[in-house]
Amino acid sequence: AATPSKSYTVTLLPGDGIGPEVISVARNALQLIASIEGIEFKFKEMPMGGAALDLTGVPLPEETLSAAKDSDAVLLGAIGGYKWDNNEKHLKPETGLLQLREGLKVFANLRPATVLSQLVDASTLKREVAEGVDLMVVRELTGGIYFGKPRGFGTNENGQEIGFNTEVYATYEVVLLTKVYLTTGCEPLVFLTVNLLSQIDRIARVAFETARKRRGKLCSVDKANVLEASMLWRKRVMEIASEYPDVELSHMYVDNAAMQLVRNPKQFDTIVTNNIFGDILSDEASMITGSIGMLPSASLGESGPGLFEPIHGSAPDIAGQDKANPLATLLSAAMLLKYGLGEEKAAQRIEAAVLNTLDRGYRTGDIYSAGLKLVGCKEMGEEVLKSIDSKV
Ligand code: ATP
Ligand code: MG
Repeated sequence: AATPSKSYTVTLLPGDGIGPEVISVARNALQLIASIEGIEFKFKEMPMGGAALDLTGVPLPEETLSAAKDSDAVLLGAIGGYKWDNNEKHLKPETGLLQLREGLKVFANLRPATVLSQLVDASTLKREVAEGVDLMVVRELTGGIYFGKPRGFGTNENGQEIGFNTEVYATYEVVLLTKVYLTTGCEPLVFLTVNLLSQIDRIARVAFETARKRRGKLCSVDKANVLEASMLWRKRVMEIASEYPDVELSHMYVDNAAMQLVRNPKQFDTIVTNNIFGDILSDEASMITGSIGMLPSASLGESGPGLFEPIHGSAPDIAGQDKANPLATLLSAAMLLKYGLGEEKAAQRIEAAVLNTLDRGYRTGDIYSAGLKLVGCKEMGEEVLKSIDSKV
């Protein structure tokens, strides 16, 4: 065989539940793509989440984090499960995911919502509204109301633990917005909404770049009519826009955006928004597609490796039964190739193979309808490999 022109190190974090099943499918697909495209992948499979807790006592072992940091991209399956639900607070599998995101310094979360023609009827929306939807939500991950770790703990009248942030960030580059929530029987909680100008600038640039790779339309979602922080957001996005004259920029208030997403989602190409608005809108957008087993995501940083993962969880109810839909993870691998490594052609191969496999009638249980071919995770993976290889 010819010597590969490019070599990439990819850290695989299978995690828990259906994670190992779907990661194994993605690994095989990447391996096959590599041989076709003349590139090479060096895979490093590392424990993470509950699997790592059982093995090492922590959800994100140091070796796992350093392997992830040293690689060109990270592909994660899923983490968590009933088994670890009653663990000590700081030893939850999910804590590992937060630590991983922090360690990789990712700040931009990309979540596409695409209604595939083969799966239109899975949408929660009417066929004529859902058909042809193909949008991407770019969410800022490090600022806003979620900023900082809870620094103190208290107990409310129901004995539930509550956390609050006692750290004050005040430099000339930040906007501080305090909100006070009063709960009966509780001390007032003060939340700081912090947006560094540089945080807005860098997410805006990722969003413009993303729009450029898509249909060249960007809609910035804010609440600039009410929130001071949002006024600044809009101002910065408009300034960054001058660097991207080829991208068509529009603005929308978040309440209207929530409505437009279910009224006429086809109007959107790329949406950029802050942490909390993005959290809510990306979940709303995902329901338009109707199938959790189909949805990939990417989290990108300034220069280091990106983190790619399906949006679904570890699905403990079907784990180990060969029932998981591997397509969300395969499409995450496609995002890894496109946004993480710049291997667009290889990414398109995976996307095309996924569509081809659906066209040939193969379905896992979550997207099955009468008259089609019901298959398990492994067989679905094998069919996608055949499509990649064009043996069909
Ligand atoms: P999270 O882990 O994100 O907090 P969760 O545990 O509530 O969420 P999931 O693990 O995503 O949710 O599972 C929700 C439902 O969707 C379950 O019934 C699960 O079986 C199903 N599901 C999730 N992912 C897949 C998949 N890839 N293929 C088939 N079914 C899936
Ligand atoms: Mg879960």
